Amino acid sequence: MELPKPGLKQKLILLFILTATVPLTVNNLILLNVQDISWTFALILTLFFLVAEALLSLFFAHKVTKPVEELETGSGYINGGNLNYRIRIQSGDEFEHLGETFNVLAQKLQESTQKSALDRDIILTEKNKSAVTLSSIADAVIAVDLSRNVTVFNKAAQQLTGFTAQEAIGKPIGSLIKIFENTDELSSLLYCPIKTDTFEGIVFNKQDLKLVSLKKQPQHLQPNHKEAFINLVVSHITEGTISNVGCVMTLHDITKEKQLEAMKLDFVTMAAHELRTPLTSIKGYLSVFLQESSKNLSEEQMMFLNRIDISTQQLGGLVDNLLSVSRIEKGMLSVATQPIDWTPLVKDVVNSFSNSAKEKKIQLTFIEPTQPVPKVSVDRLRITEVLFNLLSNAITYTHPGGIVKVWIETAPTEIITHIGDTGEGIPKEALPHLFTKFFRVAGNLEQGSKGTGLGLYISKAIIQVHKGKIWVSSELGKGSVFSFSLPL
Ligand code: ADP
Repeated sequence: MELPKPGLKQKLILLFILTATVPLTVNNLILLNVQDISWTFALILTLFFLVAEALLSLFFAHKVTKPVEELETGSGYINGGNLNYRIRIQSGDEFEHLGETFNVLAQKLQESTQKSALDRDIILTEKNKSAVTLSSIADAVIAVDLSRNVTVFNKAAQQLTGFTAQEAIGKPIGSLIKIFENTDELSSLLYCPIKTDTFEGIVFNKQDLKLVSLKKQPQHLQPNHKEAFINLVVSHITEGTISNVGCVMTLHDITKEKQLEAMKLDFVTMAAHELRTPLTSIKGYLSVFLQESSKNLSEEQMMFLNRIDISTQQLGGLVDNLLSVSRIEKGMLSVATQPIDWTPLVKDVVNSFSNSAKEKKIQLTFIEPTQPVPKVSVDRLRITEVLFNLLSNAITYTHPGGIVKVWIETAPTEIITHIGDTGEGIPKEALPHLFTKFFRVAGNLEQGSKGTGLGLYISKAIIQVHKGKIWVSSELGKGSVFSFSLPL
């Protein structure tokens, strides 16, 4: 609003004087004429009235224009941004009321302006905090909008892919990176599904994926194919649709771990291969020696030689297991399957344990199936290894006097083989780790037995290449049942 123009007040006063005084003066003159008063007296009286009227008019004009002026000044100040200004009118009439209302409005405006400034500061601080947090996160964080175009690309994402944030933001995620599971490329539609509901949580979670960056080399303009191994977790937020957030991807770089693991694996493979040759000759000479010289040896010497033989066999088993692990880890565990009569094969393996069960005073039973079992397509050697591992564990981890039973169940699409024992059982917390590499249950049994923690890991891998499943149900102190299925 503009400040009052110069002369406006004067114009108002003059107008008021004219309208108020002219009729009065004329009336007075007429009255004087009528009552025949002398001319001088009439003139003085007229002048007196004129002055009185002028003063009165001035007084009233001032009473009206002052508050208007104050209001105009106040609104000018407030309009100019000075929200501290307060209008002071003490006329006791509507102008004063108007002034107060005006002040209340100014007060409220001031409060809300202060609040918005505070809110703006909070938002700005939060934004800065998020930016700092995002850039200091070791994992790559990439957010995409509902069209899968990148909106957030933190420092780790830049290091992982080679793209700068400026290069990446606004681009479709599929034009920046490719993600592979083994050799299969995963589409961004799969790992970053766009949901239009209010679902909040993880929508994709996979480990051991390969990431290929599509960043081009500036010199040759050829794809650089920067590769990394990642664990990928993709999440959705409830406000996704309204805030145009398609999904948030967290990429944990496991390249170094993979490289280290590959190095370890190479070392283990090499060591196992190197051990195998001398071990084979030790085994060979030992068996010849045991056969040919046993008659000339004392009982004690024979006992020593038998111990050497057992230890050599254990060492041979360990070397074989390490080589199997290396094959599994490199994805090179192959199977040569052929249709096999399942019942006789299982029975043979069970029978091969009858001596060790007897020695340990364990009752070992194979429960004959009541119905004929169809043939299964398996690799005889490998599947025998699984049966051997499970049976040997059942006998090892069952106390003398216990029972070990083996039985076969035929389902429409698979054959399930169970190996049950009345042994020590496995604690609940150990169950999820049971089929992992080098895992052994801590406790008395572990100390008493000479296992390596590889048998179940290898068995699981063998069953998986046969497209079957392996599982366990166990109760501490009561026993365990290990089961595996083979598809028909
Ligand atoms: P190893 O027997 O050579 O230690 P495994 O991978 O075969 O390795 O078994 C891993 C661990 O699982 C064992 O050390 C043992 O603690 C536990 N386990 C396996 N089978 C049984 C069983 N039948 N009863 C109790 N514990 C078992």
